[in-house]
Amino acid sequence: MLKNKLIRCHICEATNIDKGGEVRCRRCNEKIHTYKNISFHKTLAFLITAIILYIPANVYPILVTKKFGVVNESTILGGVMHLWEAGSYPVALIILFASVFVPILKFIFIIYLLISTKYNVKSSIVDKHKLFYITEVIGSWSMVDVFVVSILSVLIHFSAVEIIPGMGATAFALMVFFTMLSALSFDTRLIKR
Ligand SMILES: [Zn+2]
Repeated sequence: MLKNKLIRCHICEATNIDKGGEVRCRRCNEKIHTYKNISFHKTLAFLITAIILYIPANVYPILVTKKFGVVNESTILGGVMHLWEAGSYPVALIILFASVFVPILKFIFIIYLLISTKYNVKSSIVDKHKLFYITEVIGSWSMVDVFVVSILSVLIHFSAVEIIPGMGATAFALMVFFTMLSALSFDTRLIKR
């Protein structure tokens, strides 16, 4: 198949023929790397890092409050339950959605994209591009509770209650960062027809 033997130069965009081994651009003589495996392994490595970080993000407290010397620590789920009991249903739902479901959905989407490109699962190309787009769009929502923590800590800073982002918040922010890197390193050209 000819279409598999064409390779694009990442410097000048010229189309070259992949003869196997080291390929140099016919126009600018730049060394062209086969993007295929690099992209796959980068995406996988960032994804594994993100999944590992998901554990401390949920186990360790995301919020540490100090009131009159009494230290209170709460995890993401603990905070959601606390907000629910306090009657802040919309906020509880947003935080539950953004910090528990969105990361898991993103992991599943990226795993699906990786598996389907690796084993060349036959499905419509539009679906996978859509899935990739959805992954990008919902990704921006997973930082919501990091914003909530920072806004809360600023707002309550002047009152008797002191709010400090806990270890879980750091792990969570890092997890979001690595998930983003994972999605960014995924080369949409890997999606086969
Ligand atoms: Zn070139």
